[in-house]
Amino acid sequence: MPDTLLVTGGAGYVGSHCVRALLDAGHRVVVFDNLRQGHRAAVAPEAELEVGDLADKAAVGRVFARHRIDAILHFAGNIQVGESMRRPFLYLGDNVQCAVNLLEAAAEHGVRRFVLSSTCAIFGAPERVPIDEDVSIAPGSAYGESKYLIERILRWADEVHGIRYACLRYFNAAGAHPDLPLFEDHEPETHLIPLALDCALGKRPAMQVFGDDYPTPDGTCVRDYVHVCDLADAHVKVLDLIRDRSRSFNVGIGRGYSVREVLAAVARVTGTTFPVDVSPRRAGDLAQLVADPARIMTELGWRPRFADIDAIVASAWRWRRRYPRGYADLATGM
Ligand code: UDP
Repeated sequence: MPDTLLVTGGAGYVGSHCVRALLDAGHRVVVFDNLRQGHRAAVAPEAELEVGDLADKAAVGRVFARHRIDAILHFAGNIQVGESMRRPFLYLGDNVQCAVNLLEAAAEHGVRRFVLSSTCAIFGAPERVPIDEDVSIAPGSAYGESKYLIERILRWADEVHGIRYACLRYFNAAGAHPDLPLFEDHEPETHLIPLALDCALGKRPAMQVFGDDYPTPDGTCVRDYVHVCDLADAHVKVLDLIRDRSRSFNVGIGRGYSVREVLAAVARVTGTTFPVDVSPRRAGDLAQLVADPARIMTELGWRPRFADIDAIVASAWRWRRRYPRGYADLATGM
């Protein structure tokens, strides 16, 4: 029997790629999304879309009443580190309350499995890099803290209601589906690779590098860019594991690239050059975030198929070049 999976934020970037992978693995998928950040066109036609807000407890309850949900994958939320340092309570309030609303309904309807889209931003002061799961958790931003609070709440959902969970702490989700028109399209866009692709397209005049005085080889921040389809694969695999027990995994490829290296990859892949200016550091940013993926590789047999920054950038460039305005162009059949 295929499982029926509830995917919150399934019209968003990582969520939509996961929905595709879950459908391909033979599951039935119900997407719950308010479509404020997400895109209707990103939801696979085989999935059932319920438009609603997690802040609305009655709407959440109706979804559980309509569908017999076997497991939940929770992607919906506010996700910008920079914004969270300007509006901390949006994150510490809304992100957490929405997760609690979802868990309350899950407990009431006997759902026993829950996968959280978590983040490496919970490791704000890593005592070692690469970062394994035993590195001390000390979020460096209100965004990271909001995800960590949800991780803590899940412990009690397990203890009290027997909800087994997986926390997948993504490093930097990047790239786009290699075959289908699924991609990253945020408004406003704040992420490095899509902004650089817009510079390559001439939509933006220049890239800003946020700080070049970090203690890294070229002074710019180092991140572990993991392809969104590899992340999706981790979700599919972890659903089975958490039938027995709850588990947390750091999900990255285990190799870091600096901001300047990423910009060089974008220039190579797109065959363009664009101006790069240095601006001040962005609040909440850390010098180096690179995963040690040994645990997820061993316990889940997970292996990233995209291990090279050029391949990751190329997958995103394919769709960005074709649909420069993202889903707005896709919807009008441009
Ligand atoms: N970054 C940058 N200029 C930009 C956007 C991002 O220098 O216009 C840097 C940012 O400071 C971070 C890295 O690129 O070091 C990745 O940032 P992004 O927002 O893509 O992801 P995050 O690491 O914040 O999740």
